[in-house]
Amino acid sequence: MSVGKKYIQFKQEIPTHVTLVSVSKTKPIALLQQAYDAGARIFGENRAQELVEKHEALPNDIKWHMIGHLQSKKVKLIAPFIDLIHSVDSIKLLETINKEAKKNNRIINCLLQFHIADEESKYGFVNDELISLFKSINELKLSHVAIIGIMGMATFTDDEKQVTQEFKNLKSIFDTIKKEHLPTIEVVSMGMSGDYKLAIKQGSTMIRVGSSIFGKR
Ligand SMILES: *Cc1c(COP(=O)(O)O)cnc(C)c1O
Repeated sequence: MSVGKKYIQFKQEIPTHVTLVSVSKTKPIALLQQAYDAGARIFGENRAQELVEKHEALPNDIKWHMIGHLQSKKVKLIAPFIDLIHSVDSIKLLETINKEAKKNNRIINCLLQFHIADEESKYGFVNDELISLFKSINELKLSHVAIIGIMGMATFTDDEKQVTQEFKNLKSIFDTIKKEHLPTIEVVSMGMSGDYKLAIKQGSTMIRVGSSIFGKR
């Protein structure tokens, strides 16, 4: 099946309140164009340089999302155009995004990434730091970032119970933040090709889907 058809099929399958991010990392421009022609307007990438190249090559009504670990020194590359950074995993990074957004006279939307998986390699804040995290964020008075939600990745496993529990944890972190710290947040970015159904059941509002649309990497 073509990428366009797969995108359309996927889009039809998910509830309308869930935003679909088409994760196009490592895929050639021609395949992104096919998804675009089928209606895709939100693309997710995990490398700053690749984001810049694809942004330059493709139509300018695309919203580009950074979903991978972002080094502070790379922020300036994407600051002029990035629509949402899912992977904010340190205060230092948030400050850099604020600084680069200001230079570009923009406000950049961000999600705080939380570590929910049972794996050491995944980046993110942890639940116990919430109070000190928001204390730091409030003290910094960042004028050019908008924290609009949170993001997390479940463990890569077939154990649906475990994955469900991890998504439940992320949703409960979201609920706590919304209630105690930041009532304006709306986005829970969780779920990928292998686990988006479980994520949606647990309250995901944004799924990041790569291989189910673009094929294996
Ligand atoms: C690659 C990636 C995805 C998409 O993964 P698929 O399994 O191909 O759907 C989602 N989120 C993040 C953070 C990724 O790096």
